[in-house]
Amino acid sequence: RAKLSGKNRYSVFDAAEEQSIRGHHANLERLSQALAEHEFVLHYQPKVNMRTGAVIGVEALIRWQHPERGLLAPALFLPAIENHPLAVEVGEWVIETALTQMDDWLTGGLELPISVNIGARQLRQADFAACLNARLLAHPDRAPNGLELELLETSAQDDLVSVSKVIDACREIGVHCAMDDFGTGYSSLTCLKRLAVSLLKVDQGFVRDMLDDPGDLAIVESVLGLAAAFHHEVLAEGVESLEHGEILLQLGCELAQGYVIARPMPGESIPPWVRAWRPDRRWTRQPPLRRE
Ligand code: C2E
Ligand code: MG
Ligand code: MG
Ligand code: MG
Repeated sequence: RAKLSGKNRYSVFDAAEEQSIRGHHANLERLSQALAEHEFVLHYQPKVNMRTGAVIGVEALIRWQHPERGLLAPALFLPAIENHPLAVEVGEWVIETALTQMDDWLTGGLELPISVNIGARQLRQADFAACLNARLLAHPDRAPNGLELELLETSAQDDLVSVSKVIDACREIGVHCAMDDFGTGYSSLTCLKRLAVSLLKVDQGFVRDMLDDPGDLAIVESVLGLAAAFHHEVLAEGVESLEHGEILLQLGCELAQGYVIARPMPGESIPPWVRAWRPDRRWTRQPPLRRE
């Protein structure tokens, strides 16, 4: 019973069906074939400043355009390759595809940074920054600082020293890193102190539930306080309603991503979306933040 809830949304399966996909399709061989046969696609979700209305970039999110099953979410296939060399190949495909997309948008007059999610295994490649640099050099016209990386703190916690070196090497080639799903790992504070990331992405779970759950609200407020103390920028994920945005602005968080702003969409839909988007008046009437 696969329901398609919109043209760019992926099918929702019940647990048994999901299990069968894991069993029958998401095996390594099939995934390797999917890569070879160009069945993976990237969708892009805008990241905005809710108060000024600036579109600050997009996040690239992988999907599998399965010939029989439709568009599959990354949770249905990425875990199967997580600890396999294929994860590195898929990761390289993601970076290359994002850079090519950035070139296409630039040709059409749109300069837009793209952030890509980097898995733990990809990040642990000894020559990660050098390979990344080679790819960047092959796309000389890209937006300056146009590529950003999103790392999970769980990728860093087992080997903080080497991940810290990778982050530093990336900065040297003009690629900044964000800490994704911030607050969900058990070493968030250590990561904050030891890793030279530029942006904290407050995990969507905390943001989504903060209107109903005082504990989640307290976590969001704490992360905003930490970000300010460490001079990191902060972006809230999972902004699903105007009210979420309003409260975030009152708490001092201007950068956001979420369904009330835009769902992830194919690359060709991004330029018209950027031209058309205006923030809601409930957001723009919020006074600017005062930062000392
Ligand atoms: P993430 O990097 O934290 O990405 C945010 C996820 O939240 C995306 O799910 C996005 O579609 C969803 N999302 C965005 N706004 C909202 C909202 O307002 N409400 C709710 N409920 N969800 C929202 P998606 O695309 O299914 O990706 C899930 C995760 O899979 C990502 O989490 C990321 O960790 C991983 N992933 C996606 N693409 C890649 C990739 O190319 N490489 C790697 N290594 N991981 C990826
Ligand atoms: Mg991400
Ligand atoms: Mg996240
Ligand atoms: Mg996540």
